[in-house]
Order: sequence, then structure tokens, then C-alpha cells
Amino acid sequence: MDYNGTLRKMNNQYDEATGDVTYHLNLDNESVCNLNDAIGKEVTLSFSGKIFCTGCGKKIRKTYSDGLCYPCMMSLPQADMCILKPHTCHHHKGTCRDPQWGLDNCFKPHTLYLARSSSIKIGITRGTVPFGRWMDQGAIEGMAIGSFPNRREVGLAEYSVSEKMSDKTNWRKMLTNDVTDVPFEDYIDMAKATLDEEQKEHLIEEPKSYKLNYPVTAYPEKVKSCNLTKMPFISKVLTGIKGQYLLFDNEVLNLRSHAGFEIGLTVEG
Ligand SMILES: [Zn+2]
Repeated sequence: MDYNGTLRKMNNQYDEATGDVTYHLNLDNESVCNLNDAIGKEVTLSFSGKIFCTGCGKKIRKTYSDGLCYPCMMSLPQADMCILKPHTCHHHKGTCRDPQWGLDNCFKPHTLYLARSSSIKIGITRGTVPFGRWMDQGAIEGMAIGSFPNRREVGLAEYSVSEKMSDKTNWRKMLTNDVTDVPFEDYIDMAKATLDEEQKEHLIEEPKSYKLNYPVTAYPEKVKSCNLTKMPFISKVLTGIKGQYLLFDNEVLNLRSHAGFEIGLTVEG
């Protein structure tokens, strides 16, 4: 089968009964093919050389965060620095890029979570149990540990514990499955020791952990990252998918970092 369109990050589904993760290729904001079914087959990926901004759709030469052009990155509320660093929320100062967007997106319940992706990382997300976020990060286990009324408050909690916990995933370790086995409980104790009384009231009393199984046939010992700008044609057997990466033995391709790229993808057979 052949698929053509502009790349977005893969859509993913979590099966709560089995813990299995399923990925779909997303072109032009639509799921076009189940990529788990392509594992073990030869996949050909070609980049046309054209890139389209995921915000405004304009043809551009290079992308910034998540496939945006420079003007979109500088103007869209979802690309503001306070989304990455929620403790710097400036809505109350009247300087939100789009105050209504802020009310609709940031002033909604948010979750503080732990994810076992390489080391254990702390993170925040809108909504309740963040399966989508864990799958994007390639976490093999996740646990929602706190429930806060809005993004700024969860961001302040995350910020106060972030000195003791990483908020980043080491993608090389994630892709080689070099993952820590330190119990989550140690991190919950650390959070309790750091948060103030008011913040602690938002911690979940009996947090539940979820395991995630990725469709990977064999983990590589070392990984080499591919880039479609430098290597616009890839034709290899797909050996797995984890996080937002396709694995071709030891060569890996981050689809999220290629959002906005116009591609063609063919699966053999
Ligand atoms: Zn744009």
C-alpha cells in the first residue's frame, strides 16, 4: 500500500486490558495505516523536499517546534514558552497570547504524573490518566500521582520537585530499553517531602500504575538517528515503534520532529 501526505506525529492507542500500544501513521491529520502491521516488512519512506507549517499550512523551508513556521511559533498560544514551562503562566498578568484559548486549555484540570521512560521523569498534562503522553514518550510504565485544578498550579508543583527529578527522557536509553527499575514510591516520597501542604492535598491517595508494551521485535544496542532532510529516502525493514520513533534495526527516525514534511510511505506486500 502507498500513502502520501503531510506528516503529523503518529496516533497511538493504549489497550488497558493488555497494556499493548498500537500506532497509526498520521498524514494530513488522519490515521491512514496501522503501523504495527508493517513491522517485519520493508517500509519505504520518501521525502518530497516540501514542508508545510502545521499551524497555517504555508510552504516553508524549515520548521520550529512541532512543525510550525517562525511566525506561528511566535504567535500561537500553544507554542508559547509557558506551555513548556507552566510555572511561568502569565495569564493573570493579562499577557496571554490568546486569553480565551488559555481559559479553554490551561484553566482545566491537569495531572501530575511519573513516567518510566529512561530514568523516571515527572510531567504534567491536561486531563486525567495521560496514556497518550506516555506513549509519545516511550514510557514503559506510568502513574498519575496528582490532580490539580489548572496548568499553572500543576506547573508550580512540577517546578518545585523538578530539581530532584528529571523532566526529560533520554531518547537513546528509551530506544535501547535501558530503563531504570527504581520504584515509583521513592519518587512519590520525594514529592511529598518537597511540596507544600496545599499542594500535597492534590496528590492522589492510591495512585495506580500502568504498564505499556511497545511493538518492538528486538531492541538495538546502539541507535543512530536519521533525518529526512539529509536522507530523503529510506527503504528498510521496520523492526519496531516506540515513543514517536520508527526503528529500523539500529537506525531510528523521529516522526514527531518531521511534522509538516510531505512524504510518501509504502509498505511491502
Ligand atoms: Zn505557520
